[in-house]
Amino acid sequence: MSARIIDGTAIAAAIREELRPAVEAFSRRAGRPPGLGIVLVGHEPASEIYVRGKLRAGTEAGLWVDLQRLPATASLAEVLALVDRLNASPRHDGILVQDPLPAAMGPGAAQQVFDAIDPRKDVDGFNPASVGRLVQNRPTLAPCTPSGVIEMLDRSEIAMAGARAVIIGRSDIVGKPMAMLLLHHHATVTICHSKTRDLAAVAAEADILVAALGRAAFVTPGFVRPGATVVDVGISRVTDRAEVERLYAPDSPRRATFEKRGSLVVGDVHPDVAAVAGAITPVPGGVGPMTIAMLLKNTLAAATSTAGR
Ligand code: NAP
Repeated sequence: MSARIIDGTAIAAAIREELRPAVEAFSRRAGRPPGLGIVLVGHEPASEIYVRGKLRAGTEAGLWVDLQRLPATASLAEVLALVDRLNASPRHDGILVQDPLPAAMGPGAAQQVFDAIDPRKDVDGFNPASVGRLVQNRPTLAPCTPSGVIEMLDRSEIAMAGARAVIIGRSDIVGKPMAMLLLHHHATVTICHSKTRDLAAVAAEADILVAALGRAAFVTPGFVRPGATVVDVGISRVTDRAEVERLYAPDSPRRATFEKRGSLVVGDVHPDVAAVAGAITPVPGGVGPMTIAMLLKNTLAAATSTAGR
């Protein structure tokens, strides 16, 4: 058996197309496009790539995307002042501060910054007010990655109601909101983490297994009940040739990609899982593009509910 591939790139493209008329209607009505402010502090290479993707997708969708850069030496007070300015700006409907902030800013800096974002503009859904509303299943801007996963499952007709869902990872940005969203879709949810005993056995009970731990190819076939849906959130960059050769057969196109680029983006799910799972999201081309599509959707939602303020 070979798993059905859930094509995140195609689903994300469909969502972007669906948003287009609403973006145009907003722009006509408001006399300006929906505005997204992105704050990028420093030059972390992965963040640069993510922000570039968000800029391109936002601009293509007809949004005004305003990238505000601060140097890696910026103080927490400077970031907070910038967030205040964007909170007050009538042109910025959504605000996103790219995580992580430079380590020199100190522990808890990101939390302070997320706390400062106006919840009505909180397109990442990390503000505690947004989190609280999510927990209570009230209308809110939900975090983009887990809400992208829900869209993928929904549009792929994977039944969530009554399903056993297991999430590996309990971060504030993926694992926990993922659990809440699956719960609100009536799944029976288990959250696993680094202290979970018998992790593979717990995971193997899942009808829907979400891997969000950030360890390349960690989830092997022994974690997966035959026929289960496996959602791979992880993104790791592998540069070790031996590891690539361990993961992929000599004729795999992934090996050719590694030869060309010298590195490979790999998910948390081992390639052999495709032989066991019923459906699976690939990396790349799975959850990643969905995250960006949901960011655009959240920005439009924020614009629509704040217009006229
Ligand atoms: P994170 O904050 O580092 O959290 C990782 C979670 O995984 C933690 O809860 C940790 O447990 C758990 N974990 C780590 N090693 C484990 C192990 N051996 N067994 C069981 N649990 C383990 O990471 P994150 O921000 O949630 O991101 C997770 C992954 O998703 C990363 O690869 C990230 O790059 C990727 N990601 C992708 C997208 C996308 O758009 N595709 C978006 C966001 C994140 P403890 O809590 O016990 O430490």
